[in-house]
Amino acid sequence: MRMIKRTVKWLFCVIAYYSGLTWAFRVLNNFLGRRLTVLLYHRVGEPEFKDKSLIKEMFISQKSFAQQMAYVKKRYRILSIEEVEYYLANGKRFPLNSMLITFDDGYADNYYNAYPILKKLQIRASAFVATDFVGTQRAFWWDEAAKQERQTMLTLSWMEIAEMAANGVAFRPHSKSHRSFLLLAEDEMRDEILGSKEVLEELLPGLKAISFAYPGGDVTPFARNILKNAGFVCAFGTREGINSPGTDRYNLRRKGIWDGAFLSPFGTFSLAMFATEITGLLDIFRLAPVRREDSHWL
Ligand SMILES: [Zn+2]
Repeated sequence: MRMIKRTVKWLFCVIAYYSGLTWAFRVLNNFLGRRLTVLLYHRVGEPEFKDKSLIKEMFISQKSFAQQMAYVKKRYRILSIEEVEYYLANGKRFPLNSMLITFDDGYADNYYNAYPILKKLQIRASAFVATDFVGTQRAFWWDEAAKQERQTMLTLSWMEIAEMAANGVAFRPHSKSHRSFLLLAEDEMRDEILGSKEVLEELLPGLKAISFAYPGGDVTPFARNILKNAGFVCAFGTREGINSPGTDRYNLRRKGIWDGAFLSPFGTFSLAMFATEITGLLDIFRLAPVRREDSHWL
């Protein structure tokens, strides 16, 4: 059943892509009110075979990532997060075909596998990091078992962050400990938000960290209030879709990108599926909203 579904989806995307429907829908998006497409990546590289604990929905291969970046560079206007913050804070219209590229959690493979591609193509991106994990041997709970099998660091070091920050990758807070806000008391939430902002701003002189990504995409009214009162202009969640002028800017939508989402029936990366998915065309067929508990994004 799953195979049939995937084949139908692939076939639809191939037809849409080569008939010009994907292109037309992307252009049409600009007339439906200026939109902002936000891509969400976690890890770039191949999951190590032995690491059964690794969550495959977090991975994109370096090869697919390079193809995706080459594609979006041609078709979209890739904004820096500072530009997105500016447009949102001032209620300005986004430029045509606006896109923001984001990474969550702060994995070291972002430096080794994604950063060289971004630098080569001169693409600006933003990374949301959980500051307690930077430069430490600590592993996220979902990576605990994986950590025991490897010697290398899973997360970015402060040196790597500083280098990337000087070369087109902006850093923003993603809490300190990456615990879900649904489980935290109010003073803990405040500490997670303001503490991670402070740590980043201390490390990167001149940085004004005024956007945030909720750990696991879990938004609470209290967290939103803290963000608003502390001068944050926007925050990113993990709801599917493209942002339009009516989207809540304290719960911006993102398109989660991972290898399995764009596999053709032959098991290879399908650019047609990727290109069609990120226009939001397929969202029309997702009549029922994705249930919260189905979300696998961290
Ligand atoms: Zn996360």
